Amino acid sequence: MKVRSDIRDYVALRGDECELIDRARAFSEKWVRPNARTWDERRQPGLPRELVTAWAESGLLAASVAKEHGGSGASFAAKIGMVEVLARDCFGASFSLCNVQNGPARILRDGNAEHARRYLDELKSGRMVLCPCLTEPKSGSDFASMATSARKVDGGWLVNGRKAWITNAAIAQLGVVYAQTDPQARGRGIGAFLVHLQRPGAKVGAPYELATGSIMGVAGIDLTDYFVEEADLFVPPGEAFRKALGSINSARTYVAAMCLGMVGEALDIALAYGRERVTFGQPIVEHQGLRWSLADVATELEAARLLTYRAAKLIDERKDAVMAAAMAKKYAVEMAGRCLPACLQAMGGVGLRSEHPIARHILAARIAGFVDGTTEIQNDRIGRQLIDG
Ligand SMILES: Cc1cc2nc3c(=O)[nH]c(=O)nc-3n(C[C@H](O)[C@H](O)[C@H](O)COP(=O)(O)OP(=O)(O)OC[C@H]3O[C@@H](n4cnc5c(N)ncnc54)[C@H](O)[C@@H]3O)c2cc1C
Repeated sequence: MKVRSDIRDYVALRGDECELIDRARAFSEKWVRPNARTWDERRQPGLPRELVTAWAESGLLAASVAKEHGGSGASFAAKIGMVEVLARDCFGASFSLCNVQNGPARILRDGNAEHARRYLDELKSGRMVLCPCLTEPKSGSDFASMATSARKVDGGWLVNGRKAWITNAAIAQLGVVYAQTDPQARGRGIGAFLVHLQRPGAKVGAPYELATGSIMGVAGIDLTDYFVEEADLFVPPGEAFRKALGSINSARTYVAAMCLGMVGEALDIALAYGRERVTFGQPIVEHQGLRWSLADVATELEAARLLTYRAAKLIDERKDAVMAAAMAKKYAVEMAGRCLPACLQAMGGVGLRSEHPIARHILAARIAGFVDGTTEIQNDRIGRQLIDG
């Protein structure tokens, strides 16, 4: 097993897809690695504009978009490779850029031809950023219980409510806001609406101050009699909840891949340090106790890779990936929770110094355990599949 391996060692990718992963690595080395520490220390409130522009200009933003719409037409596995290399340097930037990149793909997947005509070019160029808004102050895991309402009026809809914990809210121009049109209908009553965040009736709050991940630009959004014209009804009630659930397997597999990136990087750093650092007359990796601890990390990382890449393969093959994605996310998050502290431990106090990303990654792994369904919710998914088949 190569420590610095990625999905290309496990899944056959086209040459241009491999090149996308290399380009993502080069982008990260130029834009993310040198800045990640300062972003956290200074609480950078969301991705800097020039970084989003550079992501678009490097052709990476349109990776998700089919070739006939001017993108790269990359497979899901290739995009997994991209987020994994970015997360080696910064989970928050990887998650945020992944969301930015999913914007144009979401318009094509869930919207109609008119939505694509109005928004695709803006989103592909990074001039416009789109953020999906499901969570609310009183509904997270149980998102069908959302209180944000959409009421039919002449020529459109009036949306009222409050969204919370929205990644990229601080930099986005457009939100896909999920809102209830018929509280009795629960999930079936939910519709998705395109909301222009700078228009009257929409107000983005101050970015949250987080222990790590300020670069994700997470904030709340208040909607007060926000008028959605009919053309901006994105997914009609009855279909929106199903479509939101339809994309959740990919979202979970992305997060699992980000955990692989963080642990892969931490293991590389711990090994390099352990070969140099001498105690009791020999490099610390020559002490069996330490070597075995890193062997455990490598083994767990490999197991998480196999689960994650398998989920990615199923998604590319359009096969049922519910169980595979839930298992990949649950295992990768828990693996990161165990393995990142083990890598830090192997470095002694030096591991805590902020020039190393490991302590930052440890906190980020906690974020990974919340976004796109908590670990408990993954357990619930896996358990349900076991019982219901
Ligand atoms: C940094 C960050 C970025 C985010 N970005 C976005 C975003 O872009 N868009 C968006 O819509 N949301 C976003 N979220 C919200 C995220 O999806 C929610 O945090 C997540 O769904 C959990 O909701 P909650 O935090 O309200 O926890 P709750 O749902 O209140 O859960 C609290 C605890 O109870 C447990 N729990 C809940 N129900 C059950 C159950 N049935 N069985 C067992 N345990 C249960 C949970 O696992 C958790 O441990 C983000 C969150 C974070 C932290």
